Amino acid sequence: MPPSFSGRGQGCPRRYTRHVQEERRALLRAVCDTVYPRIERDSDPDGFFARSASDLGLPDAVEDLIEQIPDETIRGGLEQLLDVLGQQGFLRMPSQDSREQLLRNLALASADAAAGVSALAGMTLFLAYGAPDPESGQNPNWRTFGYPGPAGPPPQVPKPLEVRAPADGATIEADVCVVGSGSGGGVIAATLAKQGKHVVVLEASGYFNESDFAQLELKAYQEMFWRGGPTPSADGNISMQAGTTLGGGTTINWTNCLRTTDWVRSDWANDHGLEGLDGSDYDRHLDSVLARIGATDKCSDLNGPQQRMKEAADALDWSFKTIVRNANPEKYSPDSAGHLGFGDQSGSKNSGDRTWLRDAFENGADLYVRSRAQRVLTENGRATGVEALHIDAEGNVVGSFTVRTPTVVVACGSLESPALLLRSGIGGPAVGNYLRLHPCVALVGSYAEDQRAWWGAPQSGLVDEFANVEDGYGFLIESVQYAPGLIGSAIPWVSAETHKDLVARAKYNATFVPLPRDRGHGRVEVDGSGEAVVWYSVEDEQDRRTIHLGIDKVAEAHRAGGAVEIAALATGLPSWRRGDDLGRFTERVKRIPLGRGGWRLFTAHQMGTCRMGADPQTSVAGPFGELHDTKGVWIGDASAFPTASGTNPMVTVMALAHRTAEAIAGTTEETHGSRDAEPAAHA
Ligand SMILES: Cc1cc2nc3c(=O)[nH]c(=O)nc-3n(C[C@H](O)[C@H](O)[C@H](O)COP(=O)(O)OP(=O)(O)OC[C@H]3O[C@@H](n4cnc5c(N)ncnc54)[C@H](O)[C@@H]3O)c2cc1C
Repeated sequence: MPPSFSGRGQGCPRRYTRHVQEERRALLRAVCDTVYPRIERDSDPDGFFARSASDLGLPDAVEDLIEQIPDETIRGGLEQLLDVLGQQGFLRMPSQDSREQLLRNLALASADAAAGVSALAGMTLFLAYGAPDPESGQNPNWRTFGYPGPAGPPPQVPKPLEVRAPADGATIEADVCVVGSGSGGGVIAATLAKQGKHVVVLEASGYFNESDFAQLELKAYQEMFWRGGPTPSADGNISMQAGTTLGGGTTINWTNCLRTTDWVRSDWANDHGLEGLDGSDYDRHLDSVLARIGATDKCSDLNGPQQRMKEAADALDWSFKTIVRNANPEKYSPDSAGHLGFGDQSGSKNSGDRTWLRDAFENGADLYVRSRAQRVLTENGRATGVEALHIDAEGNVVGSFTVRTPTVVVACGSLESPALLLRSGIGGPAVGNYLRLHPCVALVGSYAEDQRAWWGAPQSGLVDEFANVEDGYGFLIESVQYAPGLIGSAIPWVSAETHKDLVARAKYNATFVPLPRDRGHGRVEVDGSGEAVVWYSVEDEQDRRTIHLGIDKVAEAHRAGGAVEIAALATGLPSWRRGDDLGRFTERVKRIPLGRGGWRLFTAHQMGTCRMGADPQTSVAGPFGELHDTKGVWIGDASAFPTASGTNPMVTVMALAHRTAEAIAGTTEETHGSRDAEPAAHA
């Protein structure tokens, strides 16, 4: 998995210096060409096997990536690793085999060395399969796996929202300041603006629409993803993705719209004090948000992998559901939908900028982009404003400004909301704790036919047979977006030839993940500069059982769907071939640790780090979202979840945000438990 491409995603003000000198540069070139070498094949019509890292200019690109890693310790660690390879004679080694062996030996030396080798291999492979040629906009490897790449240049579509840039030193007055414009922030901004409040929205990243969506993975990661794309947790256990752009996750997510389940609603109502969650009032919130985002089953064509999943479910008598999506059928095109995780060029996706933020804007809200909140300001236990930085597209700080307001909604997503509270010294002892991630392992099934997995929405169907297997906990079986760079780097590198052989067959693959509702949790802390640091490991016994059952069932699904081979995305890339004993395979792979050095874990769902609840020791906000310790500061995003939702979170985030917006405005039908007189008075 590549580390962060740049600090631009969060607008981190950093400058990078060149460290890699000639010796290291030569070593880096040799590592790249060992991971991705020229391989002689009698038949190689596309030149796929003949291409080496140097042929594609990858060593320079990997060097650039290393220079852009914001964390000096990680960057320094990779440089040290190159130095060790130099001391061990890597450059003088006579053969590909001996160089591969040295890389494997080094990876066995320590967890840090393994992480370093994996990072260098991951970056090389990510670029080999993900980076387009600047002239053609295509990557030559895509031909081999039948990936069409971008349909063409993005259409020129005007941007309907007028966004603002704050003047340096400005003080802006507002009734409400919503920090973060994603699934939760958008709903709250729209709801309160419609009620006549003067709302100011601060979004750390920029505004991108169809004109910017080039259907290119790398460009999308760099512009619209947290820390520039898939980013490992500090302990290296899990790779995280989150949206960082106007609209937040809604702009780049996969449009799977799931209602909160009854058992989660009753858990949150009964065990966490979120009154009304198990009744008709919360149904009203769910219905309302689903209506606004136009959730429909009319744009849910199943692509190859999802067809295989459905056939497997039918054969095994498991429950399979068509997914409703926030999509406009009039603009829907399944060809384009295959790229919607890089921003939807067709304009069919009813993302936040086309729905909630549009409502907010049309009702007078001011939308400030590239505006990163640094601190919530308070006086005598009450909100008084927000201190923010204005950041340019390259990540440089170009000014600072203040929003003066009695009501602040913190909606920066579950990785950044706790960081903002920690930088502000508010929220109490639970801030950053109870991080839930739905940690996913992945099993890749290889089928006899081309699966055209790049066609159609990434998720249009799922298996919910195992959603509640133990006290409300279980997993969904889902598929993933076809993203060539991610595919190339997520397949563990065992040897160059094995890796190329596997990737060459990528068009026959279908990837399924068991998406577990995690009971155990990690946490978010801040480093000396106030930046979020994420820790997560699977330690809860029940979570292990759930994930292991998920591995069993996904393997069964692939076999029933007709896979000829199944590969586990785990160190050593263990695999099953038709005719092998499936039980022996799953028993073997379940012995592999979950996380660093073992199974690759992935998350696109972060939840719970500023959670709502009744107890100020174990929750940050009260049952309607206002901080226990600071009046006028509200939590309006997935970080407010008391526990994991167990379903893809967007609709639950929106429904809870809708409920919180009503509580802020004082219009909720329930007594919402704010400890102060009238929240409406200060909103
Ligand atoms: C690849 C991917 C696919 C997904 N697919 C689905 C799906 O199909 N269905 C589903 O239900 N869920 C999906 N999700 C998850 C879903 O998008 C998120 O759970 C949801 O968007 C979280 O909402 P949020 O309001 O908590 O944060 P976000 O939507 O992440 O928004 C937070 C916003 O705050 C901004 N921000 C952060 N810090 C600051 C700061 N200091 N100042 C100002 N702004 C700040 C960020 O830039 C970001 O725009 C997916 C996620 C990813 C990454």
